[in-house]
Amino acid sequence: MAGSGKTTFVQRLASHISATGKTGYLLNLDPAVAKVPYNSNVDIRDTIHYKNVMKEYSLGPNGAILTSLNLFATRFDQVIDLCTKPRDPPLDFVVADTPGQIEIFTWSASGAIITEAFATVLPTAVVFVVDTPRCTAPQTFMSNMLQACSILYKTRLPMLLAFNKVDVARHDFAVEWMQDFEIFHEALASDTTYAASLSRSMSLVLEKFYENLKAVGVSAITGEGMDDFMAAVAECRKEYEAGYLPELNRRK
Ligand code: GDP
Ligand code: MG
Repeated sequence: MAGSGKTTFVQRLASHISATGKTGYLLNLDPAVAKVPYNSNVDIRDTIHYKNVMKEYSLGPNGAILTSLNLFATRFDQVIDLCTKPRDPPLDFVVADTPGQIEIFTWSASGAIITEAFATVLPTAVVFVVDTPRCTAPQTFMSNMLQACSILYKTRLPMLLAFNKVDVARHDFAVEWMQDFEIFHEALASDTTYAASLSRSMSLVLEKFYENLKAVGVSAITGEGMDDFMAAVAECRKEYEAGYLPELNRRK
């Protein structure tokens, strides 16, 4: 979600990667960001001028972000070449920071092209960054989980939930809600609206989804939880190799 801390998290991840003696390659895919706080190796803004796209195609801000990403996606093979070419020392991680508006990446052709381009050549996982302080209300939490669920089923890639901003609000409540729907129902107990009732039903449906999901609490600001995060990334790699890769080879 916009403002959940994706960009700040990429910055934190980059410093964690280099502090642990690994090499990272960083991509900024947000054409409309004013300032990128990490040293990006590839920046969509170097090739696509978002404001020009707006003018040239008479688009509003969201349409221009979408079109910029589509234009960039047509040349993404070049980015993949950069990510996979032999290097000394070799790259340990490629990290891609996505545009603020979730729909642009998850519900456009370019989002699918970009994630698939990675996943066909490199072990790939999707990190869904959650704004923990902003999902302490059960219904906001539910809408976040539904978004994550739809991305999981769309990409079919290993997914990791990063409950960010634990320096502001701990994520224990979220873990409890995911592990025990009765606790989630208690949180909704006083709410008799249709939406609350829908959230209650959805929590039953999502049980299977939660079971296979890795979730870690992190703070992009303080760096808390980064070791757990990297351990979960390693698990995602195993999942990719055991699940996505065989499926990919079958399709070839
Ligand atoms: P993006 O739109 O998802 O890329 O979000 P940004 O990285 O631009 O962050 C949005 C806001 O959240 C900024 O004001 C960040 O400083 C703040 N932020 C990001 N991560 C954290 C965190 O872990 N803790 C706190 N307290 N604030 C954070
Ligand atoms: Mg951002």
